[in-house]
Amino acid sequence: MTNLIFLAPPAAGKGTQSKRLVEKYGYVHISTGDLLRAGRNDGTERAKRIIDAQDSGGLVPDDIVDELLKERLQQDDCQKGFILDGYPRNAKQFETLKGIFNELNITDYLAIYFDISMQEAMERTLGRQNCPKCKRDYNKFYGPMMPKEDGICDDCNEALVTRSDDNEETFKVRFQTYLNNIEPLLKGYEAENHLVKVDANRESILVFEDIDKIINEG
Ligand SMILES: [Zn+2]
Repeated sequence: MTNLIFLAPPAAGKGTQSKRLVEKYGYVHISTGDLLRAGRNDGTERAKRIIDAQDSGGLVPDDIVDELLKERLQQDDCQKGFILDGYPRNAKQFETLKGIFNELNITDYLAIYFDISMQEAMERTLGRQNCPKCKRDYNKFYGPMMPKEDGICDDCNEALVTRSDDNEETFKVRFQTYLNNIEPLLKGYEAENHLVKVDANRESILVFEDIDKIINEG
């Protein structure tokens, strides 16, 4: 299967799409968070460096993340196809990944850009709600996740609580920062004919149909 690199701004729905692709095709999902969790627990000197960095509130050095990724991509399960989620997210990682792919002879891959407007992404983010009783997730601005009655859980009639860490300002900064960082990646993948874009402003089922088509057309 064609390996996938997800380039998705906040709230573009990449988590939902990953889950569907894993279920339908058996893709291996690889996120930086997963790599670091595994790296913390492998009992090596490197694990100590990861633990020290994370527990002191710092960032894990890039070279460690790069190494963890390279090791992960060499494991057997990745041979049938993987989704890279959250890496690369800047020009430096883009170059690093290119080097890793060259070394491991990985040539069949596509970068999928989840094209979503800032307005749509912001509404989805700020509209997040959940039910304090049954924990079901809702979104007051996103059709498929809206409660039947505004602010009330469909299942247990409880009042929903808003659960966004963002406000308009912090969201806009986070969104724009992401776009600025991946701009060189979009250009890079496009120049190599490895870029496809999906319109992520729509319902997730429609986005999935597009991705499905892209994979099957290779
Ligand atoms: Zn409920």
